[in-house]
Amino acid sequence: MSISVESLTKIYGSQKAVDGISFTASPGVLGFLGPNGAGKSTTMKILTGFIPQTSGKASVCGFDVETQALDVKRNIGYLPENNPLYQDMYVKESLAFIANIHKIGQPEKRINDIIEQTGLTPERHKKIGQLSKGYRQRVGLAQAILHDPQVLILDEPTSGLDPNQLIGIRQLIRDLGKTKTIILSTHIMQEVEAVCGQVVIISKGKIVANDSLKALRAKNQNRSLENIFIDLTN
Ligand code: ADP
Repeated sequence: MSISVESLTKIYGSQKAVDGISFTASPGVLGFLGPNGAGKSTTMKILTGFIPQTSGKASVCGFDVETQALDVKRNIGYLPENNPLYQDMYVKESLAFIANIHKIGQPEKRINDIIEQTGLTPERHKKIGQLSKGYRQRVGLAQAILHDPQVLILDEPTSGLDPNQLIGIRQLIRDLGKTKTIILSTHIMQEVEAVCGQVVIISKGKIVANDSLKALRAKNQNRSLENIFIDLTN
């Protein structure tokens, strides 16, 4: 199991954002769905070690997010929502910066491989500020996978992309999901159908569905995922 979450709770002041959720994830793409404010980003931030939980447990590749944070960081790549990038850095320079943080051996070769894998080759000599939103997301993904983590956390990686850019990023996520465990949050049900094997739906901090996409549809009279989502979260 690459990700294990057990009775995880997060309370901000008096607001319970995540309320005792449990789930596991193995290699493949898990769609993490829920209305705005359901607790998705909070869960993702706890998994990546950005914020501590209030109670419960979570582990990544067997490492506890609270007590083994460094091991967790070595095994996880994170693309936050509205990922901030240094606009004035060149693509290669920004990847060299991240490679240095992770102390990657032979960074030049790794950076070139990742540039190719993420489809950045035609734009590799540009500054990040000169890139389209689709290519900026590719840079974010390249940064997240540079240290070859087993687990990837992607918070709405395709929001704001045009249909052509969507196809490219989705294909990349599908390919990565062949070997890595990916948690993908998205509001686009079509994307879930195209990319995800497992679906977890969270509403008001609680899990209301956790199934394979196929099983979830079968349990709900094979209705559209959109209708299932609305029923479960309304
Ligand atoms: P989602 O990602 O599903 O939209 P979030 O995890 O961002 O949901 O938020 C869950 C709930 O926690 C929301 O009600 C949100 O307002 C609240 N929340 C998120 N971050 C904070 C914070 N830093 N301080 C207080 N409340 C927060």
